Amino acid sequence: MNIGDSILEFKKKLPPGVRLIAVSKTKPEDLILEAYNAGHKIFGENKAQELSRKYNNLPKDIVWHMIGHLQSNKVKYIAPFVSVIHSVDSLKLLQAINKEAEKNGRIIDCLFQLKIAREETKFGMEPEEIKSILLSDEYRTMKNIRIIGLMGMATFTDNQQQIITEFKFLHDTFFSLQREFFQGVNYFRERSMGMSDDYTLAVQEGSTMVRIGSLIFGQRNIIN
Ligand SMILES: *Cc1c(COP(=O)(O)O)cnc(C)c1O
Repeated sequence: MNIGDSILEFKKKLPPGVRLIAVSKTKPEDLILEAYNAGHKIFGENKAQELSRKYNNLPKDIVWHMIGHLQSNKVKYIAPFVSVIHSVDSLKLLQAINKEAEKNGRIIDCLFQLKIAREETKFGMEPEEIKSILLSDEYRTMKNIRIIGLMGMATFTDNQQQIITEFKFLHDTFFSLQREFFQGVNYFRERSMGMSDDYTLAVQEGSTMVRIGSLIFGQRNIIN
């Protein structure tokens, strides 16, 4: 099956209200263009410079999501065009995004990355750290970012119950933050969870954005 067909097949499996972020990291531009020509417009990348290069070379109505760990000094590469940044894991990074967004006269949508996995290697913040950002004076003065929800990556394991517990934790944290900080704020509504191996569980636990790479584009030969 070609990329266009496999992406359309995959989208049919998703319930309404769950958006597909097609993760095209390490994949060549012609494959992305195939998916685009089949009608898919939302793509995710995890490296700022690779994302910037693909943005320059591909149609300008592609909606780009930054899903990978982002260093503050690299925000400038993507600030002119990026649609959503999923991986905000510090106040410092959020300040950098706000500053670069302001330079570009934009408001950039962001998700806080919540640490839900038990593995040491996964980035992300504890709920307390997210709350302290939301309560800070620095946050209050930011005019060029918008927090639209949470992102999380579950542990890479065969233990389905553990994965479910981790997704439930993201779901519960989302609603507790909504009650405490985003009452009546309609744009705070996204739960970015689920990858190729665990998206069915994520959807079951209330995901609104799944980030799917290998299931659509095939295995990557580089691990990242
Ligand atoms: C690579 C990546 C994905 C997609 O992974 P697959 O297992 O190929 O679906 C999703 N989210 C993040 C943050 C990634 O880095």
